[in-house]
Amino acid sequence: KGHVQTHEFKTETKKLLNIVANSLYSEKEIFVRELVSNAADALEKLRHLQSGGTALSTDHPLEIHISVDQAKNQFIIQDFGVGMTEEEVNENLGTIARSGSKSFLEKLEKEEAGAGSSKDKIIGQFGVGFYSTFMVGNKIKVYTKSATPGSKGYCWTTDGHGSYTLAEADGVSVGTKIVIELKDECKSYANKIEVDSIIKKYSNFVGFPIYLNGQKVNTVDALWTKDKSAVTPEQHKEFYRFVANAFDDPQFTLHYKTDAPLNISAILYIPERHMEILGQHIEPGVNLYSRKVLIQPKSRGLFPEWLRFLKGVVDSEDIPLNVSRELMQDNILSKLKHVMTRRVIKWLEDESKKNTAQFNEFFLDYGQFIKEGVCTDSMNKKEIAKLLRYESSATKSGELIGLKDYADRVKEGQKRIYYILAPKRKFAEESPYNEVFRQNGVEVLYLYDTVDEFVVNHLREFQGLQLVSVDSAETANDPLLKKGEPATDTAGKLTDQQAKDLAAWMELTLGRDLVSKVDVSRRLVSYPAIVTDHESPAMRKMMAMMQG
Ligand code: ADP
Ligand code: MG
Repeated sequence: KGHVQTHEFKTETKKLLNIVANSLYSEKEIFVRELVSNAADALEKLRHLQSGGTALSTDHPLEIHISVDQAKNQFIIQDFGVGMTEEEVNENLGTIARSGSKSFLEKLEKEEAGAGSSKDKIIGQFGVGFYSTFMVGNKIKVYTKSATPGSKGYCWTTDGHGSYTLAEADGVSVGTKIVIELKDECKSYANKIEVDSIIKKYSNFVGFPIYLNGQKVNTVDALWTKDKSAVTPEQHKEFYRFVANAFDDPQFTLHYKTDAPLNISAILYIPERHMEILGQHIEPGVNLYSRKVLIQPKSRGLFPEWLRFLKGVVDSEDIPLNVSRELMQDNILSKLKHVMTRRVIKWLEDESKKNTAQFNEFFLDYGQFIKEGVCTDSMNKKEIAKLLRYESSATKSGELIGLKDYADRVKEGQKRIYYILAPKRKFAEESPYNEVFRQNGVEVLYLYDTVDEFVVNHLREFQGLQLVSVDSAETANDPLLKKGEPATDTAGKLTDQQAKDLAAWMELTLGRDLVSKVDVSRRLVSYPAIVTDHESPAMRKMMAMMQG
């Protein structure tokens, strides 16, 4: 009926069609996300017009319906949104990189710089998403009818090769229905189970109900977009289990929103337990969203490696939706990474102050990640170091302190943080190196973990205090470490000269291979001699390994 007009795609559109259909998106399944996003945008626009009192010729519920049919090899998506007029179809679907949604946003911006507007809810902005259907379809039909009263229905068709037709059509309901005849190699997109999982993967949090062959698919709320105070611990627990695919509870929760320097809404969790104790390497567990639509599941670029134990969601409106992983704008992502990493460190620091016992408990389990952070994340190592926890000569066994606690209570004139590497407390306490510190009341941190040696080597200093091992020869020039109390019983004591001669004899006898220097020291009280500045056990192990 009526008359069918055939149009050539604009030249630049033809060229771009090829690029979009073949290489803009890394995965074909993305077309589902793009079409659902467009449907959600159309519904959002309708809701906006409705709330503004515009007369509209529709009373359908604001829903998205997808149906797939394996026998017909078809994928159909229908929304009851604003639809398109004939002119809009030509403009929006006939021209690539021409976004009706962008013009809509610009119009909104002029009308009202108001709060609670649709502005932050519209997903499309780039005008290429629709063309992702060309990756999977041989033939695409779009039935649409604008919600403006008196509008006619239209049918737009194309095979994606240079031209499209546009004709009036009967029986079209207000909104848009897109019918895709799938390519043979894309049959799986007519499979209900497959499509169900794709919708859940990318569009689970879209703000309108999505039905697949009559059944509702998206059932979980986008908690991170809500007000912090409106989310109960019970909801967090449920959401954590959903995003982490886990059965335990989160031990810490961060719900974070900001507008500057980037727009971010995030919810992050730390699981009760991590799996690396079982020798597995955990994969990153935070999903990157933009306006509730998934951009990267388990994003690798979002946090540094050492934060791989985090679970949750980061949503930023500043990340473009329609860009594949490979093309993801690096500068925005790295900015996001920087902001989020700093925020996470601050979060943990806050928890360590508010819930000290719980944080220390966390550290015993997750400390290895913090230490990895100090060693690998040079940009943030100073901040991360605030999260380290150790026992010390001033704590009870099992009690932990931070470097800051140590720094805050150093003795007058103390310029160093002293530490001892020992496999356990008993060895640290009984170490001859420790004696002079004990006698002079200088605190010593007890580092029990082999990796701690690398941590202190990477860190070098904390709050202006140098990190120094108790077995370093440098301790000799610390005025705080005055020699130990000389024994009152001087009988049989060597004279200074005798001691010097003994040292010279030892140096000669042991030889260059074993020692570089033997010196007389007065710091020891109950031990005859100690070795200083020696290779650490960890270093020795490494050298041995390298030499095979
Ligand atoms: P974007 O969504 O980034 O604007 P798309 O290529 O996905 O780009 O869509 C192009 C334009 O086509 C949209 O901006 C919108 O104006 C129009 N459009 C697409 N799908 C629909 C739909 N389901 N209902 C109404 N308009 C639509
Ligand atoms: Mg779009």
